[in-house]
Amino acid sequence: MIEYGLDEIGLLGKRIARSLQPGDVVGLTGSLGAGKTTLARAILAALGLEGEAPSPSFAIVQPYAPPEVTLPVLHVDLYRIEDAAEIDELGLFDDSAHQVLLIEWPERMGQRVPAEMLNLTIDFADEARRRLTATVPPAWEGRWPPQ
Ligand code: ADP
Ligand code: MG
Repeated sequence: MIEYGLDEIGLLGKRIARSLQPGDVVGLTGSLGAGKTTLARAILAALGLEGEAPSPSFAIVQPYAPPEVTLPVLHVDLYRIEDAAEIDELGLFDDSAHQVLLIEWPERMGQRVPAEMLNLTIDFADEARRRLTATVPPAWEGRWPPQ
C-alpha cells in the first residue's frame, strides 16, 4: 500500500515509469474522481510527455509514441464501454508486446482482463491524499513496489 498526495505524484509517476517494460498492462481502478487519470498523466509525464495529456474518455484510446514519450503507451478509458465485447473492436492488444497499456476502468473488460495485468486500486485516504493498493501478477514480482 502506498499513500500519496498531489505533491508526491511526480515522484510516484517516475517510480512507476522506471519499472515499466514493453508489454506491460497496468489497470487503474477506482471511483470517479479517485485519481486514475491524474496518475496516468504522472506516468506519461515521467516518460517524457510535455504538456497535459488529454483525458482519453472521449477517444477511449489515446496513443503516445516516441519521440514524445520514451516508451509507446496506449492510455485507455473504458468507462463508456457497456459490453465487454466492444473491447475486441478497440484492438488494444494488437501491438501488445511493444507497448504499455494504461487502462482506466479495467473491470469493464470482464473476462478479457489480461492475467498479467498489474492492477492499481486507488482509494481516498482523506480529502487530500489517496491510497494505492496493487494486485501484483507474476510478471511484476520483484518490480512492485517500484523503486
Ligand atoms: P479519475 O480519473 O479517477 O476520475 P482524476 O484523475 O480526474 O480522477 O482526479 C480527480 C481529482 O482528484 C482531481 O482534481 C485531482 O487533482 C485529484 N487527485 C488525484 N490524485 C490525488 C492525490 N493523490 N491527492 C489529492 N488529490 C488528488
Ligand atoms: Mg479519469
